[in-house]
Amino acid sequence: MATYTLPELPYDYSALAPVISPEIIELHHDKHHAAYVKGANDTLEQLAEARDKEQWGGINGLQKNLAFHLSGHILHSIYWHNMSGDGGGEPDAKDGVGELADAIAESFGSYAGFKAQLTKAAATTQGSGWGVLAYEPVTGRLIVEQVYDHQGNIGQGSVPILVFDAWEHAFYLQYKNQKVDFIEAMWQVVNWQDVAQRFASAKQRANTLLLAP
Ligand code: MN
Repeated sequence: MATYTLPELPYDYSALAPVISPEIIELHHDKHHAAYVKGANDTLEQLAEARDKEQWGGINGLQKNLAFHLSGHILHSIYWHNMSGDGGGEPDAKDGVGELADAIAESFGSYAGFKAQLTKAAATTQGSGWGVLAYEPVTGRLIVEQVYDHQGNIGQGSVPILVFDAWEHAFYLQYKNQKVDFIEAMWQVVNWQDVAQRFASAKQRANTLLLAP
């Protein structure tokens, strides 16, 4: 079976400056994200060993570690592509992201309402977490989720399409304790083309989530 691998960044360490410093991007990708990749692979090995030996004393910790590291790997993999040095602004039909813009307006009432909710959700995380825009396949609406750590407080089946890392490692070297300033600055680097592609892909996959046969 395949194992998890650290993806290459789609840009230089300096591509998102001044919103995010090169030092943060390098540490965040090369050290923090890499640790989640290693953690997910190590946990799979430990689970295989538990099965081989039929030793289940550590099962609760291993299942938590798998959820934590795998979710950390997935969210960071999305995060890098959600950002661009040429990003920012509002999603607009003239940029080919009209379906996403319409879905945001329908799901949240307005772009301003959506932006305020995601900003608040990310900036008020208690401890470590994320603010996430997700596609919810049962109703086909977009929702905001305030994720605890990497894996808590989400709706099963929802698909993250825009993620704001609100862990201190994402901003502290540059923004110190001003988490809200970091989250507000994040809007300057949102890559709406990437978010729109993820939205289209999530909609296509939605019919695989059957609540009833
Ligand atoms: Mn992070």
